[in-house]
Amino acid sequence: MRERTLALRLRDQPDDWTEPGAHPVVDQVYRVPLTLPLDGLAAVNVYVIEDPGGLILIDAGWAGPETEKALGEALRSLGHGLGDIDQVIVTHAHWDHYTQALALRASLGTRVRVGREERHTIEDFDLADGVWPRQVGLLLECGAPELAARVAAVPVEQDDRDMPFGPPDAWLSDGERIALSDRRLVVRATPGHTRGHVVVGDPSAGLLFAGDHVLPHITPSLGFERSPETYPLRSYLDSLRLVRELPDALLLSAHGPVTRSVHTRVDELIAHHEERLDEVLRQVASGAETAYAVARAMPWTRRQRRLDDLPVVHQMTAVLEIDAHLDVLAQQGAVIGQRAGGVRRFAPAA
Ligand SMILES: [Zn+2]
Repeated sequence: MRERTLALRLRDQPDDWTEPGAHPVVDQVYRVPLTLPLDGLAAVNVYVIEDPGGLILIDAGWAGPETEKALGEALRSLGHGLGDIDQVIVTHAHWDHYTQALALRASLGTRVRVGREERHTIEDFDLADGVWPRQVGLLLECGAPELAARVAAVPVEQDDRDMPFGPPDAWLSDGERIALSDRRLVVRATPGHTRGHVVVGDPSAGLLFAGDHVLPHITPSLGFERSPETYPLRSYLDSLRLVRELPDALLLSAHGPVTRSVHTRVDELIAHHEERLDEVLRQVASGAETAYAVARAMPWTRRQRRLDDLPVVHQMTAVLEIDAHLDVLAQQGAVIGQRAGGVRRFAPAA
């Protein structure tokens, strides 16, 4: 009965989720897709909540003049302006979500909040260390010295140097409630995609602002962080189970259209990772000893490409993803890991 009520309240969505504008989701909540300067990821959704106390944004986009212009135009179509934004609640500190919030703060004094555990990546941020400093060391442990050298050589671009980055006005904590005039939002820590990722629920309206934790069409990357945690996949799977235990809600994610059921998508994501764990285990059983060897033995992307044919940064995330799966298999007792000469090697448990 409840699901039916939620489904009926969801407004018609455009066929192409990236179509610019302020698309109504339910009363007083709008989805604003903003174009991204990235290969492969076309846009990020910013959600706008109209509250008598001011506008609340969930995420803000990739800082830049085009983002600010598109966001401003979308707000104007609703009769508002950028100055009407009371605060931005950011699901995680990746640039496509966080940096435009900091740009708004710099020009308009807008309040910005992000999950407390993002402090590691924010406080460790120093481009003098290179673009992917931690990942270079992890790739060596994965048995991929040549790939590590190529990742270490990725240059820091001027755009990277110009990007606003730093601490928010306040950190968000798990379980924190944010009382607006008309609704109450609940913050839940969902580490995995990043260690400080949060989702924001509006339980009485049946909405979940899911950031990149639950995406309708893709699985979120692990390993893109400046300062990643030790076991990101274990955290991610725990965070999926946490969201599955909340009442079902409309899925308002950061990349993709609004869909009707968080639970349906979480079940698919858990099944995907279970298949992936099985496949990694099969590769270890047939003799692949390192994360790099497993990654080279497996097909990648929907087009079943070989690891060596992927762009270097995608090779990096692919190997680190396998590394995270090997850690979970070791925690489950399915494989045994040993470190020798700075490289972690795995064998099937007897
Ligand atoms: Zn994102």
